[in-house]
Amino acid sequence: MCPQGQIEKLSHLRSGLLAQMQELEQQNLNCTGCLAPCCTFHHNSMRISNSEGVVLVNYLVSQKIDLSHVKKKCQATIQEFRLDKDIFVKAGTRLRRHYTCPFFTDHQLGCSIPPEFKPLGCLAFNPTEPLGKGQTCKSIAYPEFKDGEKLEIPLMILKALENILRVF
Ligand code: SF4
Ligand code: SF4
Repeated sequence: MCPQGQIEKLSHLRSGLLAQMQELEQQNLNCTGCLAPCCTFHHNSMRISNSEGVVLVNYLVSQKIDLSHVKKKCQATIQEFRLDKDIFVKAGTRLRRHYTCPFFTDHQLGCSIPPEFKPLGCLAFNPTEPLGKGQTCKSIAYPEFKDGEKLEIPLMILKALENILRVF
């Protein structure tokens, strides 16, 4: 489990990003009409921290979402995109693999996780022009949050689920 201080720090960073997203929204910079390639294997290689995994799993628990289904979906994603096979580009540096996020629902619905519980990197990635539909999106700069090795979303969710399922 993550120390409470880390969760609070994460929450603080998230509030900052949500405020920046609201400012972007006022300039009509939002994801309306986009098929969200940033969540699929086309562009997604998101890695998240321990605390982000715990916050996300706590959200799933609060919504009484079937955790065994989430577990199976994460396992299937790991298998499909071979995320359990480490490929090193140089000593100690793992190659970032692309994968479709297990929380990506379909082209109409996009992400199934509310902004208050999403990984920071997901919140930071935004359009730079109205109705850009993913062509010119990029990340807003934000302070790095690290509490150990970051992992691809399904790997970190499985790790967080292991802890949660021990408690239940
Ligand atoms: S958590 Fe949501 S926004 Fe982030 S990669 Fe997954 S589907 Fe996309
Ligand atoms: S961040 Fe960009 S690519 Fe991702 S859903 Fe929004 S507009 Fe599309």
